[in-house]
Amino acid sequence: MGTLPIYNPATGEVIEQVPLSGAAEVEAAVQAAAAGFPGWSRTPVMERVRLMFRFKQLLEEHFEELAAIVTRHHGKTLDEARGEVRRGIEVVDFACGAPTLLQGRTLREVSSGVDQDVYRYPVGVCAGIPPFNFPVMIPLWMFPLAVVAGNTFVFKPSERTPLGAVRLAELFLEAGFPEGVLNVVHGAREAVEALLAHPQVRAISFVGSELVARRVYEIAAAHGKRVQALGGAKNHIVVMPDADLKLAVPAILGSAFGNAGERCLAGSAAVAVGNASRTLLEPLKEQTQALRVGPGDQPDVQVGPLIRDEHRRKVVGYVERGVAEGARLLVDGRSELQRPGFFLGPTVLDGVSPEMAVGREEIFGPVLSVEHVGSLEEAITQANRMALGNMAVIFTSSGRSAREFRERVEAGMCGINVPVAQPFAFFPFSGWKGSFYGDLHIHGTDGVDFYTRKKVVVSRW
Ligand code: NAD
Repeated sequence: MGTLPIYNPATGEVIEQVPLSGAAEVEAAVQAAAAGFPGWSRTPVMERVRLMFRFKQLLEEHFEELAAIVTRHHGKTLDEARGEVRRGIEVVDFACGAPTLLQGRTLREVSSGVDQDVYRYPVGVCAGIPPFNFPVMIPLWMFPLAVVAGNTFVFKPSERTPLGAVRLAELFLEAGFPEGVLNVVHGAREAVEALLAHPQVRAISFVGSELVARRVYEIAAAHGKRVQALGGAKNHIVVMPDADLKLAVPAILGSAFGNAGERCLAGSAAVAVGNASRTLLEPLKEQTQALRVGPGDQPDVQVGPLIRDEHRRKVVGYVERGVAEGARLLVDGRSELQRPGFFLGPTVLDGVSPEMAVGREEIFGPVLSVEHVGSLEEAITQANRMALGNMAVIFTSSGRSAREFRERVEAGMCGINVPVAQPFAFFPFSGWKGSFYGDLHIHGTDGVDFYTRKKVVVSRW
């Protein structure tokens, strides 16, 4: 078994090694989860919830430590890391509502002397495969709801950012959950493929890039598993002529450059409608140039580094291609390439169109494209031309435009005058089209449905 280096992206230094596990380690993890399932699935719900409350308490106690781990090996700013840990803990809060969430339904006297009841049961061993960009939050989207529902879990963290999941697993054990309930196995493609093909794994929760999401969905479904596979994004932020730019401009910057653009809810294409074309560019340029780039653990830094040098080169390649295809470089962040670590400064490309690679492909870095259209109609058409449909946002002071946009835009998460349309833990999170393969979205009551199967009992006495 080989290993892979884990970096501090702010310095480029190697800080850890992660084992590249394969089929043998996956087999051991699945067997541990399978052995734990009979006991755990019959543990009374109040006992499962008591442990979940204890886990929640430990997460609060270790809040700053978890945020620091995220910043250290992912690179995002400490404030962004804190936001991520908070959003993750909120799913644990939601999971603590299991005695309500897991209730079934009853209808008595469906025919003479006959009653019908629906019960929820866990599905068995579930597996979670997250991406690199939210090392604490995305694991917490998955296993707390799964285990509180009585499932056992095998977790395969991102091989680029595995340290958050390791700490979560330690705290989970410290909370008192029995052995076998949560199992972590490291690795990359080989480990994932072993999980997808394993007959004892009943459900797969995946979050990552579009191509891999689609592949994971196809393989897992072919093996008879239930799957939720969340993919990539190309999110448009439409700015109407009647938008309040004092609100819209900082929102666009926060959306496009937060998390250094490595976020599936990054609004990476600003679409100026009509007169907004005239008024948007200057403040956008000015405020982008004022953003402070640097290591995420330093105060006042607003944009941290990218995850790896090879990823940064890919992002810079997009910038160069955009210019070659006719876009105008409004702000060039490439001066930041000189710093140690994997930095790229916020970059704005103007005059982008959906025909250009930068206009249709996910870049996943601090690069904002600006497009210009004549009407809301055109803006909606442009957004709907994307193969991906994760999030779409509109800035406007017209309820009518906002409603039209909400009704017609093909995206699973829609924002009106907000930078990032992130559903809270009690709502389902997911996109449409190539941004999602499956039926039941992640967390919220969709998550409860995903991690439970229903049994209907028809009885006559
Ligand atoms: P990725 O697809 O490279 O990796 C995701 C996971 O899949 C990792 O655990 C990785 O080990 C595994 N993996 C990678 N290649 C594989 C292969 N060929 N076969 C099987 N498994 C494989 O994604 P990433 O670079 O870690 O994350 C960034 C992507 O995730 C972006 O596209 C982003 O939009 C997306 N993302 C989506 C959401 C969402 O909610 N839709 C949230 C966060 C990130």
